[in-house]
Amino acid sequence: MIILGLETTCDETGIALHDAAAGLLAHRLFSQVKLHAEYGGVVPELASRDHIRRILPLVEQTLAEAELQPCDIDGVAYARGPGLAGALLAGAAVAKGLAWALDRPVLGVHHMEAHLLAPMLEADPPAFPFLALLVSGGHTLLVEVAGVGRYHVLGESLDDAAGEAFDKTAKLLGLPYPGGPALEKLAAVGEPGRWVFPRPMVDRPGLDFSFSGLKTAVVNAVHNTTLDEAARAAIARAFQDAVVDTFAIKVKRALVQTGLKRLVVAGGVGANTVLRERLQAVAGAAGGRAYYPRLAFCTDNGAMIAYAGQQRLSMGEQDVGEVEVRPRWPLGELAAPLANAGL
Ligand code: ATP
Ligand code: MG
Ligand code: FE
Repeated sequence: MIILGLETTCDETGIALHDAAAGLLAHRLFSQVKLHAEYGGVVPELASRDHIRRILPLVEQTLAEAELQPCDIDGVAYARGPGLAGALLAGAAVAKGLAWALDRPVLGVHHMEAHLLAPMLEADPPAFPFLALLVSGGHTLLVEVAGVGRYHVLGESLDDAAGEAFDKTAKLLGLPYPGGPALEKLAAVGEPGRWVFPRPMVDRPGLDFSFSGLKTAVVNAVHNTTLDEAARAAIARAFQDAVVDTFAIKVKRALVQTGLKRLVVAGGVGANTVLRERLQAVAGAAGGRAYYPRLAFCTDNGAMIAYAGQQRLSMGEQDVGEVEVRPRWPLGELAAPLANAGL
C-alpha cells in the first residue's frame, strides 16, 4: 500500500511516498527558513501562502522521483495538528482534494506521533515498548510508548519547549533563525566552565521540565559581560551543557522508573550531536540503546507523516467529513488504531 504524506504544520513543506512493503519511496522538502529569517521567526500568514505555492509541485516531483502516477497512490495522510492553523489548512485541503479526486482514503495524523515514529524509517528500527524523548520547536515530552497510538506522557515542559529555548538563546547571542544548529556550532568552540547555568528541576522528583529559568540565566550572562566572540561561544557552550545535562538526568530517571531499555529521541533538537552522544551513553549505561531518525528526519518532513499515516490507514482508520484541523492537540488524546475494517 502506497501512502502519500503531506507535512505543513509550520514552515516546512514536506512530501513523501511510503510503501508498506518497500518502505520510503521518495521524499521532498521545501524549507521556508529564508522567507521568515528577516522577521526572526515564523510569520503564520506568509507560511500558509507559501505552502499553497509549494505543495502540488512538490507532490509532482515526489511522484516523478518514485516513477509513479497519482493513481498509484492508495491513501493520503496529512498533518492535522498541532501547528499553525492556516498552514495546517493548506495541507489538509490539498490532501482531501487529492484523496477525493482519486477516490482514496485520507487521514489527518498527529505531528508529534509522526516525530515519535520517525526512527521506524531507519534500517534498524526500535521494537515496542520504548521511552521517547520528543524535543522540538514546540514540544518537550517524555513518553512511554507501548505501540502505535499507545502513549503515556510521563513528563513535559511547564514553559518553553527545548527548541524554543535554543532559538531564544541563539537570538540573544545574535545568531540567525532558526537558532538550534547555529548555537550548536558556536558551542563547539566555546570554553567549557566559564559560565555554569542551572539544570532546571533536576533536584525535584518527577519528569517535567522547565527552561524559562535557564533563559533568564542566559539573559543575565549576556547583560553582565562584554559580548565578544569568545564570550558568545562560552555562553552557547554553557547553555547547551545545561540542556544536555538536564535531559540526561531526566531520561536516566525515566528509564529506571519504567524499566524500559530502548530510548527514542526525535524532533528537531534531536539533531543535536552532543545530545545524541550523551543520550546514547545514558541508554547504554541502563543496559539498552538509543534510536534516532537520520538528521534530516529529526526536523519536520513528509516521510514521518507518510509513515504514521501508513500505520493507521492500513488498519482501516480514515477521516470522514469536511476539512478540519487541530492547531492544539495533546498527544495523550490519541487512541490506538482500530484493527478492523481494512481498506
Ligand atoms: P513541533 O514539532 O513541536 O511542532 P517544530 O516542528 O517547529 O515544532 P522541529 O521542526 O521538530 O520543530 O524542530 C525545530 C527545532 O529544532 C527548532 O527550535 C531548532 O532550533 C531546533 N534544532 C534543529 N537543529 C538543532 C540542533 N542541531 N541543536 C539544537 N536544536 C536544534
Ligand atoms: Mg521547522
Ligand atoms: Fe515538528
